[in-house]
Amino acid sequence: MRTLTMGIDLGGSKILTAIVDPQGGMLSSDESITPATKGREAIIQGIVDSAHHALTQAGLTISEICAIGIGAAGISNPEAGILFSSPNLPGLRNVLLRDIMQEILGKKTFLINDADAAALGEFYFGAAKGVDDFIYITLSTGIGGGIVIDGKIHTGAIGAAGEVGHMTIDDKGPICNCGNRGCWETLASGTALTREARNRIERGVRTSILEYADGDIEKVTPQAIHSAAQQGDRLAKELIGRIGYYVGVGLANLINIFNPELIVIGGGLSNIGDMLLKPAFKVAGERAFKEAFQAVRFASAGLGQTSGVLGAAAFALQEMRKLLAK
Ligand SMILES: [Zn+2]
Repeated sequence: MRTLTMGIDLGGSKILTAIVDPQGGMLSSDESITPATKGREAIIQGIVDSAHHALTQAGLTISEICAIGIGAAGISNPEAGILFSSPNLPGLRNVLLRDIMQEILGKKTFLINDADAAALGEFYFGAAKGVDDFIYITLSTGIGGGIVIDGKIHTGAIGAAGEVGHMTIDDKGPICNCGNRGCWETLASGTALTREARNRIERGVRTSILEYADGDIEKVTPQAIHSAAQQGDRLAKELIGRIGYYVGVGLANLINIFNPELIVIGGGLSNIGDMLLKPAFKVAGERAFKEAFQAVRFASAGLGQTSGVLGAAAFALQEMRKLLAK
């Protein structure tokens, strides 16, 4: 069988499509903006266009690839190929995305959650190569995760497992996009960092953060806060340390529940590095069972932005091989 596959990473802000070989080499890649608020048909057309661009760029036709893998943001069931809901893609609700894409593109298609795809990308080609029990987390606007047990993504009863960002850390905490209160991502994400910085600035705390945001509180970002912290700003350093503390609380929970060999940490917020991760690992060490904590390693995601698209492509190849082996 031909072993080139197409990976599609469907996120709330962008669609990334690549033609990928079995070693994780990308023959081409296409990035476009997700028409997230323009409804179902526009999103589907966006995916189709991106797929065609990636093929054209690689000088290939659809008949020259063996399968398509879509890693989609949101709650989905890979077995049924259905995307139930996606907070960042409101137009896609209970959509049989796998079958729709298969029909339009004329190629066997598989669907997986985007964070699970990213975990698989790290498993096949990145920081978790050769590790059978690990957890992938992405610290970003929110917090996503993928859980790999015995070399397989743990998808749960309906495919919704691994939503680590929505474990409750503080039952009276801030309201989350999911409707719950005090989810991990309301306390330990980029959104949490920005929210806390704006609150403190509004209360008149002295800080240089605004200097890194054009003087505009609306333009305060995790990057601006990080820049201020690097220049010694006290508030910025305190806020990043606080986020690190909560990252650590969540890590301790994951370590106690899953006893992973490795935790791979990706996502834009993790680029802050030691200032965030040192307190996180310290707190995780204080709160997790000693033996389990001693057994876990931490690694940065090796593939950056491409983990999702490579993982989606690898998932398609993996599932195709399973089908052919039957
Ligand atoms: Zn939540």
